[in-house]
Amino acid sequence: MQTLIQSVLALQNDTLESVDVLLIGSQIHTVAPAGTIPVAPHQQVIDGQAKLLLPGFVNGHTHSSQVWQRGLIPQLPLELWLANVFDSTPQQLEQFYWGAVSTAVDTLLSGGTCVMDHAYVLPGQEMETVDALVRGYRAVGIRAVIAPLIMDLPFASGFPKGCLLPQSASPKSAAELLALMEAIIAEFHDPDSGIYIGLGPTGFHRCSDELLSGCGEISDRLHLCYHTHLLETRAQHRLAQERYGISAVQHLKDLGCLTPRTSLAHGVWIDDADIELLASSGSTLVHNPVSNLRLGSGLAPILKCRQAGLNVALGCDGAASNDAQNLLEVLKLGIILHTVTEQDYESWLTPEQVVQMAAVGGAKAVNLGDRTGTIAPGMDADLVLYNLDHPSMLPCTNPLQLLVLGRPTEVVESAWVQGRQLIDQGQVLTVDTAVLHNVLRHRPQTVQKTESPHHPVESHYRDVMLKR
Ligand SMILES: [Zn+2]
Repeated sequence: MQTLIQSVLALQNDTLESVDVLLIGSQIHTVAPAGTIPVAPHQQVIDGQAKLLLPGFVNGHTHSSQVWQRGLIPQLPLELWLANVFDSTPQQLEQFYWGAVSTAVDTLLSGGTCVMDHAYVLPGQEMETVDALVRGYRAVGIRAVIAPLIMDLPFASGFPKGCLLPQSASPKSAAELLALMEAIIAEFHDPDSGIYIGLGPTGFHRCSDELLSGCGEISDRLHLCYHTHLLETRAQHRLAQERYGISAVQHLKDLGCLTPRTSLAHGVWIDDADIELLASSGSTLVHNPVSNLRLGSGLAPILKCRQAGLNVALGCDGAASNDAQNLLEVLKLGIILHTVTEQDYESWLTPEQVVQMAAVGGAKAVNLGDRTGTIAPGMDADLVLYNLDHPSMLPCTNPLQLLVLGRPTEVVESAWVQGRQLIDQGQVLTVDTAVLHNVLRHRPQTVQKTESPHHPVESHYRDVMLKR
C-alpha cells in the first residue's frame, strides 16, 4: 500500500514546510519539496492543500477505565478524589474493552497515535482485564502501551502520618505481582502489532521497595517501559520525607528505577535537585496540566525541567481527573500555564516546542523514540492530517499556533498508525463509534457510593494536611 500526500504543510524539525510525503507500508518512505514526487499507479493520492501534517502525539499518561467515571467524581484533592474513584471503579470486563476503545478514539481525534495506559486491572482477573484492553486497542488500531497499575501496600499507606483506618483487603505480595507481570508480558507484549506491556507500579506511596525495584529489574531485562506516578501532591511529598528521609526521586534512583525507559507522571512537587537527578538519568516527566489543576495538585516546574535537559511529555491523565481526553486541550494548557511561573518571557514555551513535547517527547517517554514522533524517512507512519479550512482554524494565519492556542474542533481529518489509515474525513474507519456511544449511553449502574458523603479518610486528611 502506498499513499502520497501532496503539497502539505508539515512540521520539519521546528518549521513548517510545504512538502510531499510518500508512505509505503508501515513507514514514511520519502519527504521531498512539494510537487517533486511523481504519482505512481495504484497509489492513494491525498491533496494536502489547506492541510497540516504533524507527527502523531503520545498521550503519555492515562487510565482508560476511568472513561466510565467521567463527569462523576467531585472536585477534591487527589487523596480524597481517589477514595471516590475506587468506590465507583468499573467491575465488568467489557467496560474495560470499551474504555480502551473510547480512549483510543478520543486520542486519535485530538491528534494522538499512541496511548500510555496506566491501567487499573480487576483484582483476581488481571489477565482477563489486560486481554479486554488489548482487544479494545487492537479493534481501533492505535498504538498502546499497557502498564497495569500494581501496588502491594494498602490504600491508607498513601497518607502521611499513617492512617489508622480499617485497611482494605490485603493486596497481593510483591513477589506475586512480579510473577503476574511476567505472565502478562509473556502473553500480551507484541511490539510488531503495536501493543506493548510496561511495568506500572502505581507510585512509591503504595509500593514496597521490593516491588519498585523488581519492576526495574524486569524493565532492564526485557527493555520495557517503566511508568509510575511521582510526587503528584503535597501529601506525597510529605509522605516521602516521613518514609525515606530523602527525596522520593533520590530513593527511586537508589533502587535503580530511573533509566531512559522510565517515565514519571506529574512531578508537581519535585525540586531542583530532583530535576537534576531525573535529567541525568535520561528519564521522562509526563506533564498532566488539566488533571493537576482539576485536583488542585499544583503546577509542575516544566520550564525548569526543560532547561535542565529533562525530557518532558504530555498526558491527559484518566477521565476521572480530566473529564475530556483531548490532547489538543492538554497542549493548550501545557503551553499557557507556565507563563505565570516565569516572568522572563524568553523562557516561555512556543507552539513548536509544545508540539515537539507531545510528539518527540512522548515517543521517547514510551521507549519508541527511534520509531515515531518525527516526519522523516524510515520512521513509522504515525501521522495526523489536520483540516486548516475548518472554521475553528480560520483565518489561516499561523496554523501551528492556532492549532495549539485556539480551540480547534473536529479538525483531525485523517490519521495513520504504522501506515494504516484509521481516520478518514474525520470518521473512525475501524470501529463503529455509534455502537461505542450507545454502550456509553447505557452505562451499567455499578456505582457503589459510600453511604456517607464524607469518606472515612477525609477527617484524617483534614487533620494532617489542612491544620495550620
Ligand atoms: Zn494517573
